[in-house]
Amino acid sequence: PDLEALDAAVISCRACPRLVAWREEVAVVKRAAFRDHEYWGRPVPGFGPADAALGIVGLAPAAHGANRTGRMFTGDRSGDVLFAAMHAVGLATQAEAVHPATGLRDDRLRLIGTRMAAPVRCAPPENKPTPAERDNCRHWLSAELRLLRPTLRAVVVLGAFGWQALLPVLASSSWTVPVPRPKFGHGARVDLPATDGGPPLTLFGCYHVSQRNTMSGRLTPAMVEAVLTAAKHTAGL
Ligand code: SF4
Repeated sequence: PDLEALDAAVISCRACPRLVAWREEVAVVKRAAFRDHEYWGRPVPGFGPADAALGIVGLAPAAHGANRTGRMFTGDRSGDVLFAAMHAVGLATQAEAVHPATGLRDDRLRLIGTRMAAPVRCAPPENKPTPAERDNCRHWLSAELRLLRPTLRAVVVLGAFGWQALLPVLASSSWTVPVPRPKFGHGARVDLPATDGGPPLTLFGCYHVSQRNTMSGRLTPAMVEAVLTAAKHTAGL
């Protein structure tokens, strides 16, 4: 299978009853500001080229963000911060992921050598998947990473929950995760050896681009750009 086939399979997944119900309910009830929008309301596939050298991973789609637009990190404040930083360091062709006229995803946007994906593909209530839901979804990202394996050299992980969810995915794809597991932190950097003897994968930790972190000043645009720049260089972009 190729990435396109994988994306098509992901978006028809209904394996987690609670998340299927929630993603679809949110898509019907909507948020007042988006009442004219047709919500995506399905699992959100990865976004970016099939020969990406850099990955960007969070935890799960946001109910009124990616669950509305169908594209990771698009349509909420977190995405605004992230795409602006990606554009600033040369990883995205434009700073805005949302089209100014429609408020939906902007299909002019391209990522440069970078693919975004999530360990959990459906928006969870309170942004918290259960451990069983997280485990259910693992095989999708694992399959995606195996397809990206020939070119993938670095991954930026946004937030501790994404980090914890990603490590078992990496261990089930093409890399060795040390025991005890490496700890998340902003600026954390860990090289994971490849099980196939190929080049390692370097993980970079970055605080999540959530409103709570960015509004409080815990995470500044300069801090995001610094991590992205380091990861970009490691990935050879
Ligand atoms: Fe399927 Fe993952 Fe969504 Fe569960 S979270 S329904 S495994 S895509």
